[in-house]
Parts: sequence; structure tokens; C-alpha cells
Amino acid sequence: MLFNETVFGPIHSRRLGISLGINLLPTESKLCNFNCIYCECGWNIKSGKKKFNRRDDIKKNLELKLKLMKDENKYPDSITFSGNGEPTMHPEFSTIIDDTITLRNQYAPAAKISVLSNATMIANANVVAALLKIDNAILKLDSGINETATLINKPQFSYSIEKIIEHMQKLKKQMILQTMFLRGIYDGKKIDNTTETEINAWLDAIKKIEPREIMIYTIDRKTPADNLQKISFAELDKIAERVRKSGYKVHVAK
Ligand code: SF4
Repeated sequence: MLFNETVFGPIHSRRLGISLGINLLPTESKLCNFNCIYCECGWNIKSGKKKFNRRDDIKKNLELKLKLMKDENKYPDSITFSGNGEPTMHPEFSTIIDDTITLRNQYAPAAKISVLSNATMIANANVVAALLKIDNAILKLDSGINETATLINKPQFSYSIEKIIEHMQKLKKQMILQTMFLRGIYDGKKIDNTTETEINAWLDAIKKIEPREIMIYTIDRKTPADNLQKISFAELDKIAERVRKSGYKVHVAK
């Protein structure tokens, strides 16, 4: 499923309410430095167009949409950066965030600004500074164990959980940690990030990161990899309960 517009929706999000989406990535293909086995945009394609949407177009389209929503007295709960890949890869990500804050303040001051990110660009100080300006920096960590994360997220570069955790610590109470739980077989290997070993490693990571909140969810739509299974709500809630006992706020997506 690809978004064929730079500004899309609003859609109803399980986590964010009425969400007006911003897609900084190509409208014809996905662009991401992960290739998650569950990605709703499908697999990365080798010949994909590596062109980001232009800052001016994003600003113009966002202003048009927010003005229209204001005129109809229908305001978004969230202006959400998601779309066809990883938004923080956009070279002008931080200035686009500044544009968005200005437009939000002008047309929908109660709306939150949210960024859904795989956290791979947070070694970049500009990206961190931009994420610290918004309401919801929602950063992915699908496992506290390198091998499992590599299997689930298929990073397109050398990846280290330790480094990601170190960088996440810069955002601490400002960030929301997001984790996809699933089971299945991929590439002949068993995947299950709900085992006792996995949950313990994940809880250790949470204690180091100290996020403001944790969002956990499972597969909701068709996945590019076959043989993946969703986790029941009851099981997700049991995982959530273990984190709540450590004093964290946890949202379980139904
Ligand atoms: S990080 Fe997000 S966009 Fe990138 S492959 Fe994973 S699910 Fe898809």
C-alpha cells in the first residue's frame, strides 16, 4: 500500500486519532533504509525513484489542506509524518518540521505533530533537534537483540541496537517507543519477539532509554513476507502489564 500524495487523509489512526498524513518520500515507490518484513508499503524496490518530495510542495499542500479543514471546522488531532518510508531521511527534514509547526500554529493549534520513525537517523544532531520540537517522536525498536532486529527490520546498512539505544537516550522522556510484536518464519528462520529472552532484553532497553510512553502493536494488514502471525490482544496486554509495573505508560493498539 503506497500513499500517492504528499499530504494525505485525514485518516483514523489506531494510535493518534484523526491524523493528517505527510509523506516526504516518493509517491511512486517506497524509500527506506529498513526493509521490515511486515512493512505495509511492501518491499523496497532496487530501481525505486530516490527523489524526496520538495519542501515547497509539502508546505503548499499542507497549508491548502489545513485551511480546508479549518473552513469545514474539522481539525486533525495529529499532523503525522509517515508515508512511503523513513521521513527523517529527507535532507530538509528539520526545516520541514519548522514549516509544519508554523502552519499548525496558524490553522490547527490544538493538533499534535507526530513523526513515525525507525530511529536510524538519530545520530544526526539536526534530526534530534527537530524531533525535540514536536509533540510525538514515535521511534521504533522491535527487539533489544541485534539478530532479531536484523531479521525483522532488514536494515540496509550496518546496524547496532546498542548505538540506537545510546542515541535514543538523547530524547529520553520526549520520545515514545514503538514496538511491533509478531511471530513467524522468514528466510527459513523462526522469528518470535515475544519469548522470555526477547521480552527481558526489550525491558532492559526500555530501562536504558526511559521513553515517555510505549506503544505496542501487532500486524494489522497484509505483510510482504508470508508466514507471519499476529499476536493476540490478551498477549500484548500481558507484555504491557510487565512494563506498566516498572512505572511506564503503555498503549496497546487494538
Ligand atoms: S521502517 Fe517503516 S517504512 Fe521502513 S521498512 Fe520498516 S515499516 Fe516500512
